[in-house]
Amino acid sequence: MKVRTRFAPSPTGFMHIGNLRTALYSYLFARHNGGEFILRIEDTDRERYVEGAVDLVYRTLETVKFKVDESPVHGGEYGPYVQSERKSIYSEYAHKLVELGGAYYCFCDKERLESLTDENGNRKYDKHCLKLSKEEIQAKLDAGVPYVIRQNIPESGMTSYTDLVYGQIDVDCADLEDNVLLKSDGMPTYNFANVIDDHLMNITHVTRGTEYLSSTPKYNLLYKSFGWEPPKYIHLPPIMKDAQRKLSKRYGDANFEDFIAKGYLPEAIVNYIALLGWSPKGEVEKMDIDTLIELFDVDGISKSGSIFDEVKMKWLNSLYIKELDSERFATLAKPWYDQSVVAGKYDYTKWNALLQSRIETFSDIPEKVKFMEEFGDYELSLYDHKKLKADASVGLVALKAAKEAIEGIADFSEEALSEALAQKAEEIGMKKGQMLWSVRVGLTGAAVTPGGAVEMGGLLGKERSLERLDYSIKLIESKL
Ligand code: GLU
Repeated sequence: MKVRTRFAPSPTGFMHIGNLRTALYSYLFARHNGGEFILRIEDTDRERYVEGAVDLVYRTLETVKFKVDESPVHGGEYGPYVQSERKSIYSEYAHKLVELGGAYYCFCDKERLESLTDENGNRKYDKHCLKLSKEEIQAKLDAGVPYVIRQNIPESGMTSYTDLVYGQIDVDCADLEDNVLLKSDGMPTYNFANVIDDHLMNITHVTRGTEYLSSTPKYNLLYKSFGWEPPKYIHLPPIMKDAQRKLSKRYGDANFEDFIAKGYLPEAIVNYIALLGWSPKGEVEKMDIDTLIELFDVDGISKSGSIFDEVKMKWLNSLYIKELDSERFATLAKPWYDQSVVAGKYDYTKWNALLQSRIETFSDIPEKVKFMEEFGDYELSLYDHKKLKADASVGLVALKAAKEAIEGIADFSEEALSEALAQKAEEIGMKKGQMLWSVRVGLTGAAVTPGGAVEMGGLLGKERSLERLDYSIKLIESKL
């Protein structure tokens, strides 16, 4: 049988990292097995529905380049793929289930249901309407009494299944409730719709979060009542914020689009979240989507939660940034130059080569180019370098000599600067390292810069380099 998996988000306005990981694992599993990947929109809970959320799902899947075989936009032979458009299907199957004995009409009103609440605030439906006779039911239906359809759960016995990650899961039927399957407005609940859709859409493997691990036996009772074969289940471990807390929408930073806005590459995010709950057999961590497809296996999925580690995601992102072709780097970097101090002032291309190997996310750019415009009073301790035996007094000598060297350059360029500084250092008997270190500080007044003396000087140009060295010489003299 052809493997078919589905991603079934509820359009609640967010593409949380956890949702995206579910989509990814479903996608990887399908592709690894030569199967199909389906997108289904689960919008039966109208109260949680957020305008624009469906578009957000499409946009995200496009951004991460998952190829969807069937979906509301791509169509397919098992459509419609939006649950709110499948109302009549659920109604038909709910009524069929009543005939099969797996469900029953319930006419209880709100007051009666509330009266079932015990002293601890818990409520469990008491199967009251299951006892109604055929005639009583018909009379109520004829009179137009509103009803819901409830699942008829056996009063005793165990219901079990084997999850491909968590193994055997057993639930005592006595702990389950006769949940509503079809609401009085004819809308299905998730409990019902997921079963009907997974069956009718020929889904072979259901991949979803562990929050559904213990309700799955209940869904399997529905398959049993219909006489259907349930799909295989792959429940995924939670993603944690730290050892105690689950990552959740409350922490805004777990939102996919926020990471994109922060300058992460979609391919790096995908690579990172693939590792959040799964590990390949070898030691490799950097894997593009094709490699992930090739290596993905259910055995590598862990049972315990994984902590979301942005530092690691940044590191992976930096590896992907280094690999970009220069054109794509320039395109992606441009908006960040545009919102930095250098906006509109220079030809940005001159920083690209330098920055591509030095940033972890694109949002690092404004900070890295700050030195171009921001320069002024700074601490002399910036000149200290233990290993090089450098400090402000060495710096003063170095800067004065460097000034002379630069003045002597007729055709200014990085190479010319590099040569001139090396030569000058030799001439005055200073270590080249001391010279370069001091000049870098003298030119930028910054502890961290996106390059060394030669690169910084090259970017600033001859005139501005000389001006800055002048300033720094005076600064050292006034503070020493
Ligand atoms: N609509 C459910 C959710 O977003 C999907 C659960 C499932 O995959 O069955 O949590």
